[in-house]
Amino acid sequence: MSAQESDNLRIPGPTPLPPEVRQAAAAQMINHRGPQFAALLAEATAGLQEFLGTESDVLILTCSGTGALEAAIVNTLSPGDKVLSVSIGHFGDRFAAIAQAYGAHVVTLGFEWGTAAAPERVAQALAEDPEIVAALVTHNETSTGVTNDLAALGRVVKTAGPLLLVDVISSAGCIELQSDAWGCDVAVGGSQKGWMAPPGLGFVSMNPRAWDAYRKARMPRFYMDLGKAKASAEKGQTPWTPALSVLYALVAGLRLMRAEGLSNIIARHHRMGRHTRQGIRAAGLELLVADERHASNMVTAVRVPDGWAVKDLLQRLRTDHHVVLAGAQGILAGRVFRIGHLGHCSEADIDSVLAALRQVLPRGGAGA
Ligand SMILES: *Cc1c(COP(=O)(O)O)cnc(C)c1O
Repeated sequence: MSAQESDNLRIPGPTPLPPEVRQAAAAQMINHRGPQFAALLAEATAGLQEFLGTESDVLILTCSGTGALEAAIVNTLSPGDKVLSVSIGHFGDRFAAIAQAYGAHVVTLGFEWGTAAAPERVAQALAEDPEIVAALVTHNETSTGVTNDLAALGRVVKTAGPLLLVDVISSAGCIELQSDAWGCDVAVGGSQKGWMAPPGLGFVSMNPRAWDAYRKARMPRFYMDLGKAKASAEKGQTPWTPALSVLYALVAGLRLMRAEGLSNIIARHHRMGRHTRQGIRAAGLELLVADERHASNMVTAVRVPDGWAVKDLLQRLRTDHHVVLAGAQGILAGRVFRIGHLGHCSEADIDSVLAALRQVLPRGGAGA
């Protein structure tokens, strides 16, 4: 094995790939306008619907998660539309920035990074401004390791009436997600997070309310036109040449997920999250997220101990222990590092991260 092969990759996506998925990704190309492709697309779509908790259309796009967020925006909104950005971190801000780039009038309801969105404040913001036509929400904020109460947020948005567009990129396929029951009109995912597949595919669910919005939406769209994607999907195709190898891998990942079962997957992520947080505290380190009820089961942000530059800490972990962790974005850059524990992850993977941290930071973090 090369050095890279032996790395314990614990960033919040891309995640390591199980052997079955890697093998699937290596398969020969097929005709993307033929019957084999139609069968694969149907299997992937059904699997995604199951784990997103929706019976609505799910369109599979060749792009990263950000591309799929962009698709959600341009297919439901018009320039000048007033949109409420409920942001608890970097990815919430990015969702809003996309809407802004396409001319939406974005009203921001921000919460301190490391905390969750308060549903009553969202209800209040929507009640005070009846012109708001859509709310942008992040289910799991990967930059801080906070999971919002999406069921509660969905209820208040539904009561007020605007469209609910949700970034479920780092939650789908890992924790409970009931898009239909929770009132998500549009849910957006990406292949490299909980699905144990490589980066390259994004997905967008569209319920009937979202399709109504689509028919009125005037933001420019071409490659990301979900109406074209739906028309093609009905023929077992995609409008443009899809990332076939990633689709092979996604289907293989979904087969593994179906074999494990949704409730077992949710329970495993719960164990991984708790195990990581307990191990971090036991090592004398400090978690960013104080409220255990909102601590993410997919990613944990840890405060950088005094006397350490995050760059040096991550380098020591990588070169001496083959443990690859992530830094942070935006206002948390340099202040926290992040451990990914989503998708293909076991207790042993987390134990090796914790062991490496204890060796590099022997006194619970005091500088080297
Ligand atoms: C990873 C991630 C994204 C961005 O996805 P890309 O595939 O890097 O474009 C967006 N939102 C959340 C919550 C994420 O975790």
